[in-house]
Amino acid sequence: MRKILLLAFLFEIVSLSLSAQTQRLEEIQGKTILLFTPHPDDDVFGAGGTIALLNRHHNKVYIVVYTNDNKGSYDPEMSSERLARIRRAEQEASEGVLGTPKENILWMGYDDGMLEYAPQPKLTEEATALIRRIRPDVLLSVDPGEWYERWHKTDHRMAAFNTIDAVRAAEFWLYFPNQKLQQGLQPYRVPEMYFFYPAPQEANYWVNIDPVADLKLDAAAKQVSQFEPSVNKYRPDWDAKDLEKAKEEMRKEQPKKDGHYVEAFRYATGFVQY
Ligand SMILES: [Zn+2]
Repeated sequence: MRKILLLAFLFEIVSLSLSAQTQRLEEIQGKTILLFTPHPDDDVFGAGGTIALLNRHHNKVYIVVYTNDNKGSYDPEMSSERLARIRRAEQEASEGVLGTPKENILWMGYDDGMLEYAPQPKLTEEATALIRRIRPDVLLSVDPGEWYERWHKTDHRMAAFNTIDAVRAAEFWLYFPNQKLQQGLQPYRVPEMYFFYPAPQEANYWVNIDPVADLKLDAAAKQVSQFEPSVNKYRPDWDAKDLEKAKEEMRKEQPKKDGHYVEAFRYATGFVQY
């Protein structure tokens, strides 16, 4: 009996937390969406299908990129400046495939791998200003990731923590009060949040991306310099066979649930912020 009561109680909690979610993410229309990504590709790999669906549904999608991703090449001829330019163009092409206009991609411009050493009040202040300016109905951000990543993936960890710090700060005008006093940015409370790259144990929301699964692969393949052979010796394009191989690998890695391609999120809302 007690077990049944406990189950009923748990069911109540689950249905209460689900009812807090006003609409399924993939069905939202005509809203403003703001996504924070550590590097100019995690948005596509982690949430590209969802972004495509959001764009199809006439939402205004903004992508904030923390770093310029200017270190991850094995090419001895590469320079950081050149790589930053390459990655920027690839990101614009990649998000373009998903329907995001390039003027909606906002670059914070930190160096790859260095986010943890950026002056933290400045980092949080900048992200806070973006939230107060864009005033998203839904915010998407990176989670610190799988458990091993939490220890080893510095930019992901930092972007995750910084974004949620900024969500809190955006709500209370006394954080960075000059944003209100000098720039007229009013405080803003983010209503709903989804975190991509969740640890599997913590994922609690899945978007079926079947209708845009191939589009997501096309978008990811625009990030040419992230893949072999371009990551070893830069070239801006693909051999047909390399492209097919890369897409095949991505297709295999794309998570599936109940026979559908999905993107996993940790849905969270209603944090105690004060
Ligand atoms: Zn990354």
